[in-house]
Order: sequence, then C-alpha cells, then structure tokens
Amino acid sequence: MILRLRPGTPDAKVQALRDRCEREGLRTVLSPESARPVFAVVDKAPAALAAELRADPSVEELIQPQGDWRLVHRSFRERPTTVKIGGVRVGGGEVVVIAGPCSVEGRELVLEVAQLVRRAGAQLLRGGAFKPRTSPYSFQGFGVEGLRQLKDAGAAVGLPVVSEIMDASNVPAFVDHAIDCLQIGARNMQNFTLLKAVATAGRPVLLKRGLAATVEEWLYSAEYLAHYGCADVVLCERGIRTFETATRNTLDLTILPLLREWTHLPILVDPAHAAGIARIIPPLSRAAIAAGADGVAVEVHPRPEEARSDGPQALLPAELTALVADARIMAAVTGRSFHPPPAAACS
Ligand code: PEP
Ligand code: MN
Repeated sequence: MILRLRPGTPDAKVQALRDRCEREGLRTVLSPESARPVFAVVDKAPAALAAELRADPSVEELIQPQGDWRLVHRSFRERPTTVKIGGVRVGGGEVVVIAGPCSVEGRELVLEVAQLVRRAGAQLLRGGAFKPRTSPYSFQGFGVEGLRQLKDAGAAVGLPVVSEIMDASNVPAFVDHAIDCLQIGARNMQNFTLLKAVATAGRPVLLKRGLAATVEEWLYSAEYLAHYGCADVVLCERGIRTFETATRNTLDLTILPLLREWTHLPILVDPAHAAGIARIIPPLSRAAIAAGADGVAVEVHPRPEEARSDGPQALLPAELTALVADARIMAAVTGRSFHPPPAAACS
C-alpha cells in the first residue's frame, strides 16, 4: 500500500508511521517526492493495520494498488517522473526522439549515423552492441567493441547513448564505457537476474515491453528495477505478438492513457519494432505522441538494404528528419514542447 501524508507532515511523524509498519515486519520505502511525504509499504499489510493508518490524521490517502507494484505506482509521486539520460530529460512535458542503427556495425558507420541523427534533431543515439537475434546465424553484434564505437560516436556529436544489455556480467563494461542508458530488450523483460544486476548499475534503464507481456507484468519488471535500486526507469512500448501477421508486431497504443494512470514513469514508444516496415513508422510515431508518449525510438540507416539487422524497418536519413519535424508539431499540438538539442558535451 502507499501512504500519502498531508503536505507539511513533520519528519518525526513520518518516521513514527514507518516505524509502526516496520514493527509489524513490513518494509517501507520513502518516496523522493518533495511536495509531500509519501511512503510505500512494500509487504502486504494486515487489514487492521491498514485501517489504523487510514484513520491517522496525518494520512491524507491510503492507496491499495490494484497490482503488486508500489514504487512505480502513480501515487508514489506527485507528478510524473522525469528521467535524465545524459543531459536529456525524458518525461515531464517534453517530447524526445531516440534514433540510431539497430546494430552498431562499425566505427565509420556509427559515426555517420550519429551525425545524421544529430542533424535531424533527435536527442539520443541508440545502437545495439549485444544483439538478441532469433537465429544463431544472424549478426550478434560487436559486443564491448560496439559499446566503445557507439560511445565515441555519441561523444563526437554530443548525444547521450542508449544500448541493450543482455547479460548481467556485462554491467561493468556498460558502466566503464559510460553508456548513458541501459536498454532491457523485449526478450529479457522478465530476466529477473538481469533486472536485479542492471538496477545496481547507477544508470537510467529503458525497459521495453516483453513480446507477450501484459502491462501488469511489465510494471512488475519496472518494480524490480526500482526495488533493487534504479529509480530512473523509462518504459518503452514496442509492439506485442498477436494473431496479426501483416506487421511484425501489433503496436499497443491502447494502453498508453491507462499506463499514465497506473505509473509515474515516462513512457516511450518504439514503432519500428512494432511495425517492421519503415514506411508506416511516421504515422505510428505521430499517433504515439498524440496518445501521450513522451517520445519515440526509431532506427535509421544510410543504406537500409545493407543493414546487418532490421533493415526493413530502418528509416532513411531524410525520413528521420521529417519524423523529427512531425514530433515537434505533435508535441505542440498536445500542449508539450520538443526537447531542445543537448549541449555538445553531455556526459
Ligand atoms: C532493439 O531495440 O534493437 C531491439 C532488439 O528491440 P526489442 O527488444 O524491442 O525487440
Ligand atoms: Mn532492431
């Protein structure tokens, strides 16, 4: 349950309420919220204790979440959370675009893409160095060398970088190479060992929705990250597996407004892995922002037919420029602003 105390409740009173719970063997976590004291009781509280707390004059609201998430629950924060990736704010009323190659394919190419991503006006550079490929014969990524190339390209153009981590043992490599945001891919959304390890990396995490995960399961994974030490989680809807075969996956925009009610975390949409077809990504991106997404994540390649992964869904440079222009318009239409370009040196 989550206790939202009245603004101005003295610290000693907050502590007394937490102590009351802890004496029953229940763990509590204080929200970083500054507008008012809020704390979560992460273990299940007996009904009698809940009733007692609800009756306390300092308790304005006691919420029993419908799911088992607490720290990522909407009520745990006063306003939606803003997550900082390098110098870029995700959430909080600004729209961002993440763009880059599906895979880091070499030093020159990733630099070329980084330059075009920067020129197009996107704020974050993505690129996979550890690739989760369905076939063992497909390109698996350059591993640590790919991280180095991605970071160097991002630093050269002044963009923070996002890259997927697949194995807990690689956390030090991601930290050592100053990867600004660690991506948990759809296939690993419920790899709880990985979630626990990544949570300790001290970096923001982009948590993609699993291929067949319900929103509840997705939020439980976000709760794992929060519980094990990472408060800076960004959710990313990337399409789910349905009976439909016309597209690679089905982009589930339906859940966006509900997610807003259920969690305070920022929400991005990756229409590329949902669609699998480059030409339909622009309207899906506009729809995602219209539905309230804090931004979109897309793939771009100067020669998609040569891409070593996900070529069919890679935008051409000019298409990325147009998509960013659309995102700017959609941000304004929905009463938000488009995040300014990051400063040249960002991490
Ligand atoms: C990716 O971002 O390149 C990727 C593999 O995404 P997903 O985990 O959503 O399939
Ligand atoms: Mn991809």
